[in-house]
Amino acid sequence: MIAAGTGAETALRSARSHYPGISRLDARLLLLHCLGISLEELIAEPNRQLTDIQAEQFEKLLLRRSQGQPVSQLLGEKEFWGLPFRISRDVLTPRPDSETVVELALEICRGNPPARILDLGTGSGCLMAALLTEFMQAEGVAVDISPAAVTIAEQNFADLELSDRVRLHCADFSDFEGGPFDLIVSNPPYIADADRDSLPVDVRDHEPAMALFAGDGYEAYHTLARYMPRLIAPGGRVVLEIGQGQADRVLTMFELAFNQAGLSARASVKPDLAGIDRAVAFCLD
Ligand code: GLN
Repeated sequence: MIAAGTGAETALRSARSHYPGISRLDARLLLLHCLGISLEELIAEPNRQLTDIQAEQFEKLLLRRSQGQPVSQLLGEKEFWGLPFRISRDVLTPRPDSETVVELALEICRGNPPARILDLGTGSGCLMAALLTEFMQAEGVAVDISPAAVTIAEQNFADLELSDRVRLHCADFSDFEGGPFDLIVSNPPYIADADRDSLPVDVRDHEPAMALFAGDGYEAYHTLARYMPRLIAPGGRVVLEIGQGQADRVLTMFELAFNQAGLSARASVKPDLAGIDRAVAFCLD
């Protein structure tokens, strides 16, 4: 379809006509990746010719994108909180929505920065890395049950020069012991198994099921609520990502767990840019 020597803009047009399901933005990101240049460079030289290898690689990526593989996985990277992260099919691609978790953490920690941070289900490590770049004095522990995810997070912390401030544990939430922590964050799996078929193919077939699905959608929150009281420091704070419509049940669940442990907490909820409640926080008295 695309021969060596084809100009970049022509290759893009050809990609769009052969794969109408691929957005112009995605096609351009894939082409830039194959050419190894920035958007500015492409604009400056729109007729830059593709080499044999570049044309072949572009074709391959277009085919895989047309089959639903996310662009982040094809490029092997995704930006979160202005930081670059390596991405593979072993980790959830960081979402802009999850930046709400970081924003809420910053809001509730204003004037009282955490010294010890725990991220349960760190995946790519994006939440932990974002928090460590904001709280410059803090140290972190990042936990994930998937050994492949731990390897990716480890590489990301190294790339971002955070390795000496974070320790990684490959463990289930319920097996992890440590702390206490001043700030605990988690973006746990929160999609109900029953909703699997209503997800976009990109997510359903290409992102790690373990990072997405949790029984009725609340299983991971139940586990987190059960273990939170023994991980949190006095006066500590917890910030969790939630799915659409989950705020009330998650708030009730955690308030109950804290009360049962003799702790009281003030709760807050923060919507994402689409206006959907996306993060909940608890500040222990
Ligand atoms: N903490 C990672 C993120 O926010 C991974 C979350 C997950 O795998 N459920 O993207």
